[in-house]
Amino acid sequence: MAALEADYPPCVAVFGTDGGSPFVLVSDHAGQAVPPEMDGLGLSAAERARHIGWDIGIDGVGRALSRKLHCVLIEQVYSRLVIDCNRAPGHPTSIVTVSDGTQVPANQDLTAAQRAARENAILHPYHDRITQELDARLGRPTVVVALHSFTPSMNAVARPWQVGLLHNRDPRLAHIMIDLLAQEGLTVGDNQPYALTETSDYTIPKHGEQRGLPHMEIEIRQDLITEPEGQEEWAERLARLLPKAWALFCAQYPAHQPTAQMQDATV
Ligand SMILES: [Zn+2]
Repeated sequence: MAALEADYPPCVAVFGTDGGSPFVLVSDHAGQAVPPEMDGLGLSAAERARHIGWDIGIDGVGRALSRKLHCVLIEQVYSRLVIDCNRAPGHPTSIVTVSDGTQVPANQDLTAAQRAARENAILHPYHDRITQELDARLGRPTVVVALHSFTPSMNAVARPWQVGLLHNRDPRLAHIMIDLLAQEGLTVGDNQPYALTETSDYTIPKHGEQRGLPHMEIEIRQDLITEPEGQEEWAERLARLLPKAWALFCAQYPAHQPTAQMQDATV
């Protein structure tokens, strides 16, 4: 698969329209698609629908959020088990052979050419689309928001946070958002359930840190957003708090001025 076959779904789905908001939403793990010749990766549909295959519920949150914020959402359509778009090409967990106890038959003993084919068909076009969106906004205030969800328990340990903010080189906006979420009475993870790093992540290092753009990586616990009601609730919450976080950021770090639209926004 040098490129995806013509009748396959494209690897990128774009939702929402740019209504002047500073936010660009990206969702690396929103999809569950598998190229047909991979025969479901040798897994049952139930296994692929587990958290190992995608970020459960984040599709509904992201799409509703893009509508409420009048901003663009770029989603990866293919399962993270085909290739993880939040890992650098060649990273040991880019194409996993086992995930949370599940062996992935179609990922065993891949050749370099097979790995490169997945990178060229799925990973690179997705990141190229994000780059294109950000390039088109040069000169405008832009905040890259990476949306993820996490499984409520891992290795039999329950995770207490409803939401987490991950950060590394520029924690400024994450810290503001952590405070706003905590004021809602939520238990907020600060670099929990994961810490953002240059090796365990790819999207924010590449599109946020390296471009010098303000950014956030948000993780929502999956049991809260499995159903549409919870997805709407979290989209509403983030649509309220993200503009507030950006306004506070701009007040604290005046090099980044809010757009006129954002100053008017009361969403
Ligand atoms: Zn994710």
